[in-house]
Amino acid sequence: MGTYYEELQRARKFLRIHNIADADVDAWYLLAHVLGINRADFFMLRETLFPEDKLQILDNLLKKRVMHIPLQHIIGCQEFMGFTFEVNEHVLIPRQDTECLVEEVLKICHNKSVLDLCTGSGCIIISLTKLGSLKSATGSDISDKALITAKRNANRLNTEVEFLHSDLFDNIEGVYDIIVSNPPYIPTKEIKELMPEVRDFEPITALDGSSDGLLFYRNIIASLNRYLKKGGYIFFEIGHNQGMDVSNLLLKEGFIEVSVKKDLSGLDRIVSG
Ligand code: GLN
Repeated sequence: MGTYYEELQRARKFLRIHNIADADVDAWYLLAHVLGINRADFFMLRETLFPEDKLQILDNLLKKRVMHIPLQHIIGCQEFMGFTFEVNEHVLIPRQDTECLVEEVLKICHNKSVLDLCTGSGCIIISLTKLGSLKSATGSDISDKALITAKRNANRLNTEVEFLHSDLFDNIEGVYDIIVSNPPYIPTKEIKELMPEVRDFEPITALDGSSDGLLFYRNIIASLNRYLKKGGYIFFEIGHNQGMDVSNLLLKEGFIEVSVKKDLSGLDRIVSG
Protein backbone atom coordinates (compact mmCIF):
# COMPACT_ATOMS: atom_id res chain seq x y z
CA MET A 1 0.00 0.00 0.00
CA GLY A 2 1.42 3.38 -0.98
CA THR A 3 0.59 7.07 -0.75
CA TYR A 4 -2.05 8.77 -2.88
CA TYR A 5 0.73 9.80 -5.23
CA GLU A 6 2.26 6.34 -5.47
CA GLU A 7 -1.11 4.69 -6.06
CA LEU A 8 -1.86 7.17 -8.84
CA GLN A 9 1.43 6.24 -10.54
CA ARG A 10 0.62 2.56 -10.14
CA ALA A 11 -2.87 3.04 -11.61
CA ARG A 12 -1.46 4.95 -14.57
CA LYS A 13 1.10 2.26 -15.27
CA PHE A 14 -1.53 -0.47 -15.02
CA LEU A 15 -3.79 1.23 -17.59
CA ARG A 16 -0.84 2.07 -19.84
CA ILE A 17 0.46 -1.49 -20.05
CA HIS A 18 -3.04 -2.57 -21.01
CA ASN A 19 -3.05 0.01 -23.82
CA ILE A 20 -5.97 1.97 -22.51
CA ALA A 21 -6.49 5.24 -24.40
CA ASP A 22 -5.95 8.26 -22.11
CA ALA A 23 -4.49 5.99 -19.42
CA ASP A 24 -3.11 8.86 -17.30
CA VAL A 25 -6.28 10.92 -17.33
CA ASP A 26 -8.49 7.91 -16.66
CA ALA A 27 -6.28 6.75 -13.78
CA TRP A 28 -6.69 10.17 -12.21
CA TYR A 29 -10.50 10.20 -12.59
CA LEU A 30 -10.84 6.70 -11.13
CA LEU A 31 -8.64 7.55 -8.16
CA ALA A 32 -10.45 10.84 -7.56
CA HIS A 33 -13.79 9.03 -7.80
CA VAL A 34 -12.82 6.40 -5.23
CA LEU A 35 -11.39 8.95 -2.80
CA GLY A 36 -14.03 11.63 -3.45
CA ILE A 37 -11.37 14.30 -3.92
CA ASN A 38 -10.52 17.05 -6.40
CA ARG A 39 -7.10 18.11 -7.75
CA ALA A 40 -6.43 20.57 -4.95
CA ASP A 41 -7.19 17.90 -2.30
CA PHE A 42 -4.86 15.53 -4.10
CA PHE A 43 -1.91 17.90 -4.04
CA MET A 44 -2.43 18.59 -0.37
CA LEU A 45 -2.82 14.93 0.52
CA ARG A 46 -0.37 13.35 -1.91
CA GLU A 47 1.84 11.89 0.85
CA THR A 48 -1.16 10.44 2.74
CA LEU A 49 -1.42 6.67 2.92
CA PHE A 50 -4.11 5.27 0.63
CA PRO A 51 -6.84 3.59 2.77
CA GLU A 52 -6.80 -0.19 2.33
CA ASP A 53 -10.56 -0.63 1.78
CA LYS A 54 -10.50 2.02 -0.97
CA LEU A 55 -7.52 0.41 -2.63
CA GLN A 56 -9.61 -2.69 -3.21
CA ILE A 57 -12.33 -0.56 -4.81
CA LEU A 58 -9.81 1.27 -6.99
CA ASP A 59 -8.35 -2.04 -8.18
CA ASN A 60 -11.80 -3.29 -9.16
CA LEU A 61 -12.49 -0.15 -11.16
CA LEU A 62 -9.11 -0.34 -12.88
CA LYS A 63 -9.92 -3.91 -13.90
CA LYS A 64 -13.21 -2.75 -15.39
CA ARG A 65 -11.43 -0.05 -17.35
CA VAL A 66 -8.99 -2.62 -18.72
CA MET A 67 -12.03 -4.49 -20.08
CA HIS A 68 -12.61 -1.29 -22.13
CA ILE A 69 -15.68 -0.27 -20.16
CA PRO A 70 -15.80 3.50 -20.76
CA LEU A 71 -14.55 5.63 -17.88
CA GLN A 72 -17.88 7.46 -17.85
CA HIS A 73 -19.82 4.23 -17.32
CA ILE A 74 -17.59 3.37 -14.38
CA ILE A 75 -17.86 6.74 -12.65
CA GLY A 76 -21.44 7.29 -13.93
CA CYS A 77 -21.09 10.80 -15.32
CA GLN A 78 -19.63 13.13 -17.93
CA GLU A 79 -19.06 16.88 -17.91
CA PHE A 80 -20.70 18.80 -20.74
CA MET A 81 -20.94 22.60 -21.08
CA GLY A 82 -19.73 22.83 -17.48
CA PHE A 83 -22.54 20.65 -16.10
CA THR A 84 -22.35 17.09 -14.84
CA PHE A 85 -24.59 14.64 -16.69
CA GLU A 86 -25.46 11.17 -15.47
CA VAL A 87 -24.68 8.61 -18.17
CA ASN A 88 -25.14 4.86 -18.53
CA GLU A 89 -25.32 2.20 -21.24
CA HIS A 90 -28.67 3.54 -22.50
CA VAL A 91 -27.39 6.93 -23.67
CA LEU A 92 -24.57 8.24 -25.83
CA ILE A 93 -21.81 9.74 -23.67
CA PRO A 94 -21.85 13.51 -24.35
CA ARG A 95 -18.88 14.51 -26.55
CA GLN A 96 -16.87 17.70 -26.47
CA ASP A 97 -17.56 18.19 -30.20
CA THR A 98 -21.25 18.52 -29.41
CA GLU A 99 -20.49 21.57 -27.25
CA CYS A 100 -19.87 23.49 -30.50
CA LEU A 101 -23.42 22.64 -31.57
CA VAL A 102 -24.81 24.00 -28.30
CA GLU A 103 -22.71 27.14 -28.65
CA GLU A 104 -24.08 27.78 -32.15
CA VAL A 105 -27.69 27.41 -30.98
CA LEU A 106 -27.03 29.65 -27.96
CA LYS A 107 -26.28 32.54 -30.33
CA ILE A 108 -29.88 32.72 -31.52
CA CYS A 109 -32.14 30.83 -29.10
CA HIS A 110 -33.29 33.73 -26.92
CA ASN A 111 -37.06 33.51 -26.33
CA LYS A 112 -37.45 30.69 -28.90
CA SER A 113 -39.15 27.30 -28.69
CA VAL A 114 -36.58 24.54 -29.14
CA LEU A 115 -36.97 20.84 -29.95
CA ASP A 116 -34.01 18.47 -29.48
CA LEU A 117 -34.56 15.29 -31.50
CA CYS A 118 -32.65 12.17 -30.36
CA THR A 119 -31.98 13.82 -27.02
CA GLY A 120 -30.23 10.83 -25.39
CA SER A 121 -28.89 11.97 -22.01
CA GLY A 122 -30.60 15.33 -22.64
CA CYS A 123 -27.23 17.08 -22.64
CA ILE A 124 -28.06 19.44 -25.53
CA ILE A 125 -31.51 20.66 -24.51
CA ILE A 126 -30.66 20.81 -20.80
CA SER A 127 -27.52 22.88 -21.48
CA LEU A 128 -29.52 25.21 -23.74
CA THR A 129 -32.12 25.63 -20.99
CA LYS A 130 -29.42 26.37 -18.40
CA LEU A 131 -27.46 28.83 -20.54
CA GLY A 132 -30.03 30.36 -22.90
CA SER A 133 -33.37 31.94 -22.12
CA LEU A 134 -35.64 29.70 -24.16
CA LYS A 135 -39.37 30.17 -24.56
CA SER A 136 -39.84 26.41 -24.26
CA ALA A 137 -37.66 23.31 -24.28
CA THR A 138 -38.62 19.87 -25.58
CA GLY A 139 -36.47 16.77 -25.95
CA SER A 140 -37.51 13.55 -27.66
CA ASP A 141 -36.04 10.09 -28.06
CA ILE A 142 -37.09 6.68 -29.32
CA SER A 143 -35.61 5.03 -26.20
CA ASP A 144 -37.64 5.00 -22.99
CA LYS A 145 -34.53 4.18 -21.01
CA ALA A 146 -32.69 7.17 -22.46
CA LEU A 147 -35.64 9.40 -21.54
CA ILE A 148 -35.54 8.21 -17.93
CA THR A 149 -31.89 9.26 -17.78
CA ALA A 150 -32.63 12.58 -19.51
CA LYS A 151 -35.41 13.35 -17.03
CA ARG A 152 -33.13 12.59 -14.10
CA ASN A 153 -30.51 14.94 -15.58
CA ALA A 154 -33.07 17.70 -16.08
CA ASN A 155 -34.31 17.35 -12.50
CA ARG A 156 -30.88 17.24 -10.96
CA LEU A 157 -29.84 20.34 -12.92
CA ASN A 158 -33.08 22.12 -12.01
CA THR A 159 -34.39 22.65 -15.51
CA GLU A 160 -37.87 22.59 -16.99
CA VAL A 161 -37.75 20.39 -20.08
CA GLU A 162 -40.66 18.50 -21.62
CA PHE A 163 -39.55 15.01 -22.69
CA LEU A 164 -41.50 13.05 -25.30
CA HIS A 165 -41.18 9.46 -26.35
CA SER A 166 -41.07 9.61 -30.13
CA ASP A 167 -39.47 7.96 -33.13
CA LEU A 168 -38.27 11.21 -34.74
CA PHE A 169 -41.49 13.22 -35.34
CA ASP A 170 -43.98 10.33 -34.93
CA ASN A 171 -45.28 11.58 -31.63
CA ILE A 172 -44.53 15.30 -31.97
CA GLU A 173 -47.39 17.73 -32.33
CA GLY A 174 -45.82 21.15 -31.83
CA VAL A 175 -44.22 23.54 -34.29
CA TYR A 176 -40.86 24.96 -33.20
CA ASP A 177 -38.67 28.01 -33.80
CA ILE A 178 -35.53 25.86 -33.61
CA ILE A 179 -34.93 22.15 -34.09
CA VAL A 180 -31.57 20.74 -33.05
CA SER A 181 -30.33 17.20 -33.38
CA ASN A 182 -27.24 15.07 -32.98
CA PRO A 183 -28.71 11.97 -34.60
CA PRO A 184 -26.94 8.63 -35.14
CA TYR A 185 -24.69 9.23 -38.17
CA ILE A 186 -22.10 6.50 -38.42
CA PRO A 187 -22.38 4.36 -41.58
CA THR A 188 -23.21 0.80 -40.50
CA LYS A 189 -20.08 -0.77 -41.95
CA GLU A 190 -17.83 1.66 -40.02
CA ILE A 191 -19.24 0.69 -36.62
CA LYS A 192 -16.96 -2.33 -36.32
CA GLU A 193 -13.91 -0.06 -36.71
CA LEU A 194 -14.83 2.10 -33.71
CA MET A 195 -12.82 1.80 -30.51
CA PRO A 196 -14.10 -1.00 -28.24
CA GLU A 197 -15.28 1.51 -25.63
CA VAL A 198 -17.75 2.89 -28.18
CA ARG A 199 -18.49 -0.19 -30.28
CA ASP A 200 -19.10 -2.58 -27.40
CA PHE A 201 -20.57 -0.34 -24.71
CA GLU A 202 -22.45 2.61 -26.21
CA PRO A 203 -25.98 2.06 -27.57
CA ILE A 204 -25.85 1.02 -31.20
CA THR A 205 -29.15 2.84 -31.79
CA ALA A 206 -27.38 6.10 -30.90
CA LEU A 207 -24.59 5.46 -33.41
CA ASP A 208 -25.89 3.64 -36.47
CA GLY A 209 -26.99 6.01 -39.23
CA SER A 210 -27.73 3.21 -41.78
CA SER A 211 -25.63 2.25 -44.80
CA ASP A 212 -24.54 5.77 -45.78
CA GLY A 213 -24.96 7.34 -42.32
CA LEU A 214 -27.50 9.85 -43.62
CA LEU A 215 -30.83 8.15 -42.90
CA PHE A 216 -31.77 10.35 -39.94
CA TYR A 217 -30.87 13.59 -41.72
CA ARG A 218 -33.01 12.57 -44.69
CA ASN A 219 -35.99 11.63 -42.53
CA ILE A 220 -35.77 14.70 -40.31
CA ILE A 221 -35.33 17.13 -43.21
CA ALA A 222 -38.27 15.61 -45.10
CA SER A 223 -40.60 16.55 -42.20
CA LEU A 224 -39.24 19.98 -41.32
CA ASN A 225 -41.89 21.89 -43.29
CA ARG A 226 -44.44 20.56 -40.81
CA TYR A 227 -42.55 20.93 -37.51
CA LEU A 228 -40.32 23.94 -38.06
CA LYS A 229 -41.88 27.41 -38.13
CA LYS A 230 -41.44 29.41 -41.30
CA GLY A 231 -38.18 31.30 -40.88
CA GLY A 232 -37.07 28.83 -38.19
CA TYR A 233 -33.67 27.23 -37.80
CA ILE A 234 -32.36 23.68 -37.96
CA PHE A 235 -29.03 22.70 -36.40
CA PHE A 236 -27.38 19.31 -36.90
CA GLU A 237 -24.23 17.73 -35.62
CA ILE A 238 -22.69 15.77 -38.51
CA GLY A 239 -19.82 13.40 -39.20
CA HIS A 240 -16.70 15.21 -40.49
CA ASN A 241 -17.34 14.15 -44.11
CA GLN A 242 -21.10 14.71 -44.22
CA GLY A 243 -21.14 18.53 -44.48
CA MET A 244 -21.76 18.62 -48.21
CA ASP A 245 -24.41 15.89 -48.24
CA VAL A 246 -26.44 17.32 -45.37
CA SER A 247 -26.16 20.89 -46.76
CA ASN A 248 -27.46 19.65 -50.11
CA LEU A 249 -30.39 17.92 -48.46
CA LEU A 250 -31.33 21.22 -46.77
CA LEU A 251 -30.88 23.26 -49.95
CA LYS A 252 -33.09 20.84 -51.86
CA GLU A 253 -35.75 21.23 -49.18
CA GLY A 254 -35.78 24.99 -49.79
CA PHE A 255 -33.51 26.37 -47.05
CA ILE A 256 -31.89 29.54 -48.29
CA GLU A 257 -29.00 30.01 -45.91
CA VAL A 258 -27.12 26.83 -45.15
CA SER A 259 -23.75 26.82 -43.41
CA VAL A 260 -21.17 24.31 -42.26
CA LYS A 261 -19.11 25.02 -39.12
CA LYS A 262 -16.03 23.26 -37.78
CA ASP A 263 -15.27 21.74 -34.38
CA LEU A 264 -12.18 22.50 -32.27
CA SER A 265 -10.13 19.98 -34.27
CA GLY A 266 -10.92 21.85 -37.49
CA LEU A 267 -13.29 19.19 -38.84
CA ASP A 268 -16.74 19.93 -40.26
CA ARG A 269 -19.14 19.27 -37.37
CA ILE A 270 -22.26 21.42 -37.65
CA VAL A 271 -24.69 22.12 -40.44
CA SER A 272 -27.37 24.74 -39.92
CA GLY A 273 -30.06 26.20 -42.08
N1 GLN B 1 -28.26 14.23 -28.14
C1 GLN B 1 -27.39 13.34 -27.44
C2 GLN B 1 -25.96 13.83 -27.53
O1 GLN B 1 -25.65 14.66 -28.32
C3 GLN B 1 -27.50 11.91 -27.96
C4 GLN B 1 -27.17 11.78 -29.41
C5 GLN B 1 -27.39 10.38 -29.93
O2 GLN B 1 -27.83 9.49 -29.20
N2 GLN B 1 -27.10 10.19 -31.19
O3 GLN B 1 -25.10 13.40 -26.81
